[in-house]
Amino acid sequence: MEALLLSGHDAYIVGGSVRDDLLGREPGDWDLTTDGTPDELRAIFPEARYENRFGTVAVARDGVEYEITTYRSERGYADHRRPDVVEFAATLGEDLARRDFTVNAMAWGRAANERGGTVASMVDPFDGRADLAAGVIRAVGDPDARFAEDALRMLRAVRLAASLGMRIEGSTFASIARSAPDAAFLSGERVGAELQRMLVAPVPSVGLRLLDRSGLLAIILPELALQRGIPQAKIAGEDLWDHTARTVDAAPAGAVPRLAAVLHDIGKPATFADGHFLHHDVVGSRIAGVVLDRLRVPRETRERVVRLVRHHMFSYEPTWSDAAVRRFIRRVGPDLLDDLFDLRSADDVGSGLPADLPRTAEIRRRCGDQLAANVPLGRADLAVDGRDLMMALGLEPGRKLGRILDRLVVRVVDDPAMNERRALLALARAIDRNLEDR
Ligand code: ATP
Ligand code: MG
Repeated sequence: MEALLLSGHDAYIVGGSVRDDLLGREPGDWDLTTDGTPDELRAIFPEARYENRFGTVAVARDGVEYEITTYRSERGYADHRRPDVVEFAATLGEDLARRDFTVNAMAWGRAANERGGTVASMVDPFDGRADLAAGVIRAVGDPDARFAEDALRMLRAVRLAASLGMRIEGSTFASIARSAPDAAFLSGERVGAELQRMLVAPVPSVGLRLLDRSGLLAIILPELALQRGIPQAKIAGEDLWDHTARTVDAAPAGAVPRLAAVLHDIGKPATFADGHFLHHDVVGSRIAGVVLDRLRVPRETRERVVRLVRHHMFSYEPTWSDAAVRRFIRRVGPDLLDDLFDLRSADDVGSGLPADLPRTAEIRRRCGDQLAANVPLGRADLAVDGRDLMMALGLEPGRKLGRILDRLVVRVVDDPAMNERRALLALARAIDRNLEDR
């Protein structure tokens, strides 16, 4: 700000940064706005990174990045999702007027022509401070017009309400309910990004409920909207949608656990028959994959969530042998166990049960014991490898070799003591002969 002021420009912190600071939170990012044009800014900050597409100049100081944007007004939005024209504006007031919500339309700083003092002041033309104090998300200007310009603002309203623990003001909410169908114009990527931010809120069901009540859910996640009204014999008077909301709230606050909780029963509406949900885990993992692809969720997140949905119905019995525990670990994948048990605990809470059922604790502990003992679980853990088998048995690389290795894995998972070179080579020979005979 000092550098901007010394160069004769206005310097303001703006938007979410001001909002978060007033709330006593560390802002997620520092946004500044000024009358300086991008060219002028690059002269003031030669080391800055320039994002041409958005006209944003990013300056890094002491490991913190500050994004400086020239005052602008945006017009157009024929497609409900991006401005046709981004125009520079003459005043801070115009810049604040194009922002989405009153709590996001405040600036703090100084104008260049304020002589003498070093005192910065708050610029708050839409009384964002009052709404912030009252915990209200309210559109700047006419909500219908603002949501027609950019449908993403509806999702931002819901996300902000959930993550800040605020409510959406009545006429703003009514406008979202009217404009919800426009959310169909949004790219899956933008929807997915907002959804993921909403889901990591302290109480994500606040956002889910708002999505449902506004009609946004049926547009952006129709698969999930189908859960309303599906019976669930878990908590009296509650349906499957209620169960999902409770489960999401109980899941740890990360993208993978929360997405898995939202989607864990996504296969139930499609499989519901005679009071049962046959194979809803299998069907659900397929639907989850389709949803996550549409939302452009990062590949690793997508893959883990799909696997969690697929395996969430495991039913552990204390009578399981250690070998059964090892087979379970191999089936699920050691990397997924913690998330899977967390999902089960959340699912239990969502069903009106305690989070720490002894059974879940027990399978968690037994899996931990097996992993701590470093038991063989896959090909890489075998005391022999493909080359050994090729040498000893005169095999060629190919499908048969792979099948033999897999059988060896099955055997050592059953009995880790078998994981010894001579025993495995003998076993491989027997398997080889056996495959030949058939
Ligand atoms: P976060 O805490 O997630 O960063 P934020 O409100 O700061 O929330 P940003 O995406 O960083 O969100 O946007 C910065 C500011 O830009 C907002 O506070 C708001 O003033 C404005 N803004 C962002 N997106 C829009 C939009 N779609 N329409 C209008 N104004 C927007
Ligand atoms: Mg921000």
